[in-house]
Amino acid sequence: MTSYIKLFFINIFGYYESWMLWLSVFIVILLIMAVIFILNRSEEYKKFNSISLYNVIWKWKYKKDNIVSLWCYCPECGSELICDDEYCRSAIMLTNKTTFLICQKCGEAEKSRIVGGDRNYLLKMVRFEIQKRIKNGTYKDETKK
Ligand SMILES: [Zn+2]
Repeated sequence: MTSYIKLFFINIFGYYESWMLWLSVFIVILLIMAVIFILNRSEEYKKFNSISLYNVIWKWKYKKDNIVSLWCYCPECGSELICDDEYCRSAIMLTNKTTFLICQKCGEAEKSRIVGGDRNYLLKMVRFEIQKRIKNGTYKDETKK
């Protein structure tokens, strides 16, 4: 085995000394550490899994790079909110379309009111806000809070 390593160095540099082997081992370890570091960094945003938007708390998970199970929670008691967008179906004007976020635990209290669309619209908007923060790096400020 060692003779192969010696031959390898002799082929490249024309001679072999033991420090060459140690230096190569050292460089390989450094490279591995660098790769691990880069991989960890690219996954760092995955710690970002909640945000306060439209006066309520949004939580989600990641499946690969996609945002999944995105939903809103009460800022007071933390329970899941109920989304009422029935009103959107009857409204024709976009500005009349309103989605209400209601907390049953807080006595059916309205926690938020989003004008402009139904729940799909709202989820799209929130998703967009999350992705924007991941892209420009401002999610780091959110995770510190
Ligand atoms: Zn509540």
